[in-house]
Amino acid sequence: MSQPKILLLGPPGAGKGTQSKNIAETYDVDHVTTGDALRANKDMETEHGTPRSFMEAGELVPDPVVNEIVQAALEDADGFVLDGYPRNLSQAEYLDDITDLDLVALLDVDHGELVDRLTGRRVCSECGANYHVEFSPPEEEGVCDECGGELIQRDDDNEETVKERLNVFDENTQPVIDYYDDEGELVRIDGEGTPDEVWADLQAAIEDAV
Ligand code: AMP
Repeated sequence: MSQPKILLLGPPGAGKGTQSKNIAETYDVDHVTTGDALRANKDMETEHGTPRSFMEAGELVPDPVVNEIVQAALEDADGFVLDGYPRNLSQAEYLDDITDLDLVALLDVDHGELVDRLTGRRVCSECGANYHVEFSPPEEEGVCDECGGELIQRDDDNEETVKERLNVFDENTQPVIDYYDDEGELVRIDGEGTPDEVWADLQAAIEDAV
């Protein structure tokens, strides 16, 4: 059987990165994440400008730039978990045209909790592991437990940009969730438990779907 093709939806801070990592390791599929791809190419010149200006404002990078990244990544992948895309209906339609999905899962988390999660988040600059200054601190402040890399705060994890990212989610990405829900394809996962609890529910949904 070919490897599973999984779409993980959810607001910023819902745990998509953490759970995508679990999926990629357990099912040996590619983790395709537009956020990481764009952060690695923030100053890439495109006819729409560089991604940096949009990202630092918490706005969406124009569709043609993001669609091209996803198209190239999916073409090369034998199974994938897609994280951070689609973020609006036009991206969802583009995705429909280029692939078939085995599972669309939503990590459901209340907005009030997301602001706390995102503003306290720290990310390893080497391996991408996630921490939280209060809820899951590293053993040594500022140092990654897994690889010893330096922990940093993402430029867009400040309170002002976080609030704009959540507005953009409500306006642009909520319709994507409704779209998959209306098609009867959406599986909702409670994203408010511990990472292990969320993973247990998500893995059960994957086993059901593939
Ligand atoms: P993330 O790491 O998924 O939270 O994404 C960080 C930022 O990258 C977002 O706030 C957007 O500016 C940009 N971005 C990531 N994915 C997309 C996408 N699918 N469409 C447009 N912009 C995106």
